Amino acid sequence: MLPAMAHSFSVSGVATAIPAGKIIGVGRNYREHAREMGASGEEPPLLFLKPASALVPDGGFVRRPAFSLSLHHEVEIVVAIGGSGKHIAEAAALEHVLGYAVGLDMTLRDVQAEAKRRGHPWAVAKGFDTSAPLSAVVPASAVPDPAALALELRVNGELRQTGRAADMIFAIPALIAFVSNIFTLDRGDLIFTGTPAGVGEVFPDDVLEAALTDLTHRLAHLKVTVVDDP
Ligand code: MG
Repeated sequence: MLPAMAHSFSVSGVATAIPAGKIIGVGRNYREHAREMGASGEEPPLLFLKPASALVPDGGFVRRPAFSLSLHHEVEIVVAIGGSGKHIAEAAALEHVLGYAVGLDMTLRDVQAEAKRRGHPWAVAKGFDTSAPLSAVVPASAVPDPAALALELRVNGELRQTGRAADMIFAIPALIAFVSNIFTLDRGDLIFTGTPAGVGEVFPDDVLEAALTDLTHRLAHLKVTVVDDP
C-alpha cells in the first residue's frame, strides 16, 4: 500500500505535506541552455507536463529506466502555487505563489531526441517515475524578490550548473501569467521554470546535490542518488 501522503511535497516549517497537483515544465528558459539544445531562445515558453508520481523528496533515489542509457540532470527553480487562478495578470502573479524550491527536471535525453525526431510528445522522456526530485518548499514570505534567486547543482561534489533567476528569458511572474492562460493553476501545482546551461549525463551511484539561494543565504537543499531501475 502506498503511504497516505505519496505524491506530495513539504513546505519548510509546516508539519503537513501538500498534495501535488499538475507539474508543469518550462523548456529553454535560459539563453545559454536554449543554445546548447539548438534553439534560438526567442520563442514563447515551451511547456510540458510531468505526473505527480514523478516526485522524489530530498534524500530519495532517481531510478534510471532500463529503456534509456542517457539520463540527464537539469537543475531548476520551482514555483509552488498556493492560490488558484486563470488568466492571471503578470502584476498579480506573485500573489498566487506558495513558495519556491529547487528541483531536478530529470530527462531521458535519448528518448527525448527520438521523440523530437518522430514528432512525438515528451511524456516518457520527461515524465517517467522519479523524474522530478524536489526540495522542501521555502515559503514565499521568505523570498521577497524571486528575481534574486540563484541555484546550483553539484554531481559527486563537482559543480555542474549554476544559474540566476535574473537570467531567465521569461521571469517568474511572466511564466505564471503565460501558464495560467492555458492551465488553471491550483494550490499544489508546481512549475519547473527551466534549466541554465551545463546539463549533462549522470550514472548509477552518482550523488546529485542542488541548492537554492538568494545570493546570500542557502534557502533549500536537495540531495538524491541515481540507481538503475530493476
Ligand atoms: Mg528542464
